[in-house]
Amino acid sequence: MDQPLSPGLYIVATPIGNLGDITARAAATLCRVDRILAEDKRVSAKLLAHIGATAPMTAYHDHSDDALRDRILADLSVKAIALISDAGTPLISDPGYKLVRAARAAGVAVHTLPGACAAIAALTLAGLPTDRFLFLGFLSAKTKARSETIAEIATLRASMVVYESGPRLSESLAARAAGLGPRDAAVIREISKLHEECVTGSLTELAERYADAPPRGEIVIVIGPPPERSEASDDDLDQALDEALARLSPSRAAAEVALLLGIPKKRAYARALERTGA
Ligand code: SAM
Repeated sequence: MDQPLSPGLYIVATPIGNLGDITARAAATLCRVDRILAEDKRVSAKLLAHIGATAPMTAYHDHSDDALRDRILADLSVKAIALISDAGTPLISDPGYKLVRAARAAGVAVHTLPGACAAIAALTLAGLPTDRFLFLGFLSAKTKARSETIAEIATLRASMVVYESGPRLSESLAARAAGLGPRDAAVIREISKLHEECVTGSLTELAERYADAPPRGEIVIVIGPPPERSEASDDDLDQALDEALARLSPSRAAAEVALLLGIPKKRAYARALERTGA
């Protein structure tokens, strides 16, 4: 008979589609814990039945009230409790960090059982640089908040990983093309499921492809880093600025051109002022 697990919090990653992706350690742990905290008990019931885990479940979200968190914390000093989410790694665009923080503050043991994560799986499929990447989770659906976030990170030399839904895909790709300039990207769908797919192209090409045909299923977008550029010549700069200044204020034109040519905004702005005689 298995030894009982020592008390503490066990963060357990679960599959993101294919039930066969549960790790042996995750399945064994879920079968031995005293209780399982789940985002949606109905969703997790299928996985638990599949592996034969019978521990009682409690619904847990980071917005669950403090009284529930306090009860869980009290139990954690004497019981082994697992935290799972509907799919993938808990805490990654999923509940859990408040509980982990509270458990650490209370001196409770916290263990993690690594496994599937859609962001990491998508990076392995995209064929884009993986040496540096930024995980952005879900971006706001509100246009202003979304473009502020995109502007904040536009000059980072890193790939970006974004969770997205089918109906918003095309609009969201177009917003990124506008804010990030020309970039290679990949739309990855239904990882580890029957209709797994990875479609690559520029952000603009992908936005057009999905404009009239929003795809079904779960989606991750991976966006490559800004292209390496040789230093733009003064002629290149003047040409791009003249085109942009016909539409935009000097400040906005400079921002757009700096992004397009991969040069500091200060250089573009100084030249924009000279071109407009300001
Ligand atoms: N914690 C999860 C993880 O480790 O990836 C992510 C949870 S988040 C609430 C759900 C989002 O992850 C989906 O909307 C989708 O963007 C992405 N996702 C989850 N499973 C996926 C799959 N099989 N294929 C593609 N994307 C997936």
